[in-house]
Amino acid sequence: MAHWAGLGYYARARHLHAAAKLCVEHHAGELPRDFDALHALPGIGRSTAGAILSQAHGDRFPILDGNVKRTLARWHGVGGWPGTPAIEKQLWTLAEAHVAGVPEGRMADYTQAQMDFGATLCTRARPACLHCPLHDGCVALRDGRVDALPTPRPGKVLPEREAVALLLENTRGELLLQRRPPTGIWASLWTLPQADTDTELRQWFDG
Ligand code: SF4
Repeated sequence: MAHWAGLGYYARARHLHAAAKLCVEHHAGELPRDFDALHALPGIGRSTAGAILSQAHGDRFPILDGNVKRTLARWHGVGGWPGTPAIEKQLWTLAEAHVAGVPEGRMADYTQAQMDFGATLCTRARPACLHCPLHDGCVALRDGRVDALPTPRPGKVLPEREAVALLLENTRGELLLQRRPPTGIWASLWTLPQADTDTELRQWFDG
C-alpha cells in the first residue's frame, strides 16, 4: 500500500495482492484459464474475466464495460438505465450474440476494438455518428435518440437533515469543538457541538 500511495483506486491494489496470493495457493502461480476460476478471484468481475480470456487466449467471451454498454444501448436502441439488473441482463445477451459472430482468431481484436470504439467514436458526450462505420444499423441514430441513450441514472433523492450547532467562543477567540462519534456522518472529525434540536442543545446546559 505504501508503494501504491498516491495512485488512487486502493481497492485495486488490495484485490491485486489478494488475487496474486490465491493464484500462488491454488493455481501454481498462474492466472487460471478457466472462466469460473478467474471470475472467483478478487477484483475480477464477469467483464474483466471475459476481457482477460479473450485478449490473452482468444477465447469467445463477451465484455460489458461502460463503453460497450453505451455502444450497445445506442446501436440497439435499448432504453433504461444500464445499472438496473434487467437492462444489464439485456445488454449481456446482446454482447453474447455479437461474440458468436466474431471470426475465428479475431476475439482479442474484437474485444479491444469494442473498447476503443466506445472510447473514441461512440463517446458519451459527442459521438462521431457521421464517421461511424456502424451508423447504417444504429437504432439511436435512426430514431434521433443518440443523446438520450444510454438512459442516465435516475436522480437520487437526497435526505434532508436539520441540526443546531453551538458556536461558543472564549475571550481568547478559541472555539469549542467536539469530536464526533466513530461512525456516521463526519465520523471522528472535530466539529462545532451539534444537536438535533434547540431543546436538546439546551438540555446540555440545564443538565
Ligand atoms: S451511429 Fe453514432 S450512436 Fe450509433 S453507434 Fe455510431 S457513433 Fe454510436
